[in-house]
Amino acid sequence: MSTETESPSIFSRIVARQIPATIVRETDRVIAFEDIAPQAPVHVLVVPKTEQYRDVVELAAGDPGLMAEIVDTARSIAEERADGEFRLIFNTGENAGQTVFHVHAHVLAGGLKE
Ligand code: 5GP
Repeated sequence: MSTETESPSIFSRIVARQIPATIVRETDRVIAFEDIAPQAPVHVLVVPKTEQYRDVVELAAGDPGLMAEIVDTARSIAEERADGEFRLIFNTGENAGQTVFHVHAHVLAGGLKE
């Protein structure tokens, strides 16, 4: 899998409507859209609009309130689209599967398999 470290990031280009995405939530600070390669019946990416944080460690240290907004957005999507229960995954680092270095949460829900 290739990695993506360009600026603006691919997710910033989605925020700017320069590339298409199926957007399911948007606030002043957060955007959520369908993952292009879903791994579960519900697979949404929740992304801060700022690309200043490359991973969840930087985000949690730099802006805990923004981190909380991401968690609450995930809760809201899972309540609307599934049974309110969900996995929230932040791949952190290339060896852990992170390919886009603009922090994002994977929200996975709806009939998950072990
Ligand atoms: P990571 O591997 O960095 O944790 O997750 C990156 C995610 O972004 C992957 O699940 C991948 O399918 C998704 N993705 C990559 N490019 C695009 C795109 O252009 N549009 C959308 N909607 N998702 C993308």
